[in-house]
Amino acid sequence: MVVIMKPGFSKEQLDHAIQEMERCGVNVMISRGAETTILGAEGNAQSIDVEKMQSLPGVERVMRVSEPYKKANRKYHPDDTVVEIAPGVKVGGKRLLVAAGPCSVESEEQITAIARSAKDTGAQALRGGAFKPRTSPYAFQGMGYTGLDLLEKARMATGLPVVTEIMNTDDVDYFAEHVDVIQVGARNMQNFDLLKRLGRLTKPILLKRGLSSTIEEWLMSAEYILAGGNPNVILCERGIRTFETFTRNTLDLSAVLAVKRQSHLPVMVDPSHASGQAWMVERMALAAITAGADGLIIEVHNDPIHALCDGQQSITPEQFRTLMEKAARVAECVGREV
Ligand code: PEP
Ligand code: MN
Repeated sequence: MVVIMKPGFSKEQLDHAIQEMERCGVNVMISRGAETTILGAEGNAQSIDVEKMQSLPGVERVMRVSEPYKKANRKYHPDDTVVEIAPGVKVGGKRLLVAAGPCSVESEEQITAIARSAKDTGAQALRGGAFKPRTSPYAFQGMGYTGLDLLEKARMATGLPVVTEIMNTDDVDYFAEHVDVIQVGARNMQNFDLLKRLGRLTKPILLKRGLSSTIEEWLMSAEYILAGGNPNVILCERGIRTFETFTRNTLDLSAVLAVKRQSHLPVMVDPSHASGQAWMVERMALAAITAGADGLIIEVHNDPIHALCDGQQSITPEQFRTLMEKAARVAECVGREV
C-alpha cells in the first residue's frame, strides 16, 4: 500500500499517518520526491483500512500495490532514480551512460589501450570481465584478481570508472574496495545470497536480466538489493532466450519500456550479448536509445578475431566511434544526450 500526502501537509499530519500505519503492524518507508511525499507500507498491509487512511488530514490518496516488488516500484518512488557511479558520472538522468570495453581483461596493454580509445570516443565507463562465467570449463575463465588489478591500472590511466562482474559471494568486500560498479551477470541474477550481500553495500550494482527471467523476476532480484539497504541499482537488459537461434539472444526492447513504467530504476541495454553479432550492435544500440534506455554497455575489442572471449560480438574502436556519433544524433531526437 502507498499513501500519497497532499502538497503542503504538516509534520503532525505526516506523523499521524505513519502512526496509523504502524499501528497495523507494518514498517513505513518514506519517499520524498520533488513533488510528492509517499509513505510505503512494508509488510502485510491487509489490515490497514483504506477508507480510514484516506480520510486522515493531509492524506491525498491511498493505493493498494499489487506488485510483489515494493522498493523497486514506481508507485513508491515516482521520480527516476539517478545512480552516481563516480563523481559526476551518473546514470538515469538526461545524459546516457555508455560503458565500453572488452568482454574480458586479457593483458595490461590490451585493457589500457581499449580504455584510452574508449575514453577518447566519449565512453564514460570501462567494462571488462576478470571473473568470467563460461559455459565450458575448458574455455578462458578470466584473469581473476590480476584482471581486477589491470582494470585499476586502466582506471588510473584514463579516469574511467570500471564495471566488472562478480561471481562469488566471498569476493563482495574485495569488489567493494576495488571496482566502481559491481556487475551481477545474467547467470547470477537469482543468486539470492549474492544479492543479499550486495544489498549491504552502497556501491552501484549493475543487475543484468537473467537468461530466461520475466520482468517481475528481474525486479524481484533488484528488490533483494534494495531491501538490504542499497539504493544504487542499475538494471541491464541483455537479451533473453527465445526459440530463435539466428541471434545469440533476443533483445527485449519492450522490457525497457515496461521496466521504466513499473520501476524508477535506471535501465541500460547490452546490445552485444543480446545479438551476439558485431554487425548488429550499432543498430540495436540506436534502437535501445529510442526505446528509452538510460545507458549502453558495449563490447569493444582492438582485435576481435583474436579475443579470448566473445570476439564475434565485439566491435572495433573505429566501429565504436561511428556508433557514438550516431548515438549522439539519435539521443538528441529523443531529448537525451551521450
Ligand atoms: C558479460 O557482460 O560479459 C556477460 C557475461 O554478460 P551476461 O551476464 O549478460 O551474459
Ligand atoms: Mn561477453
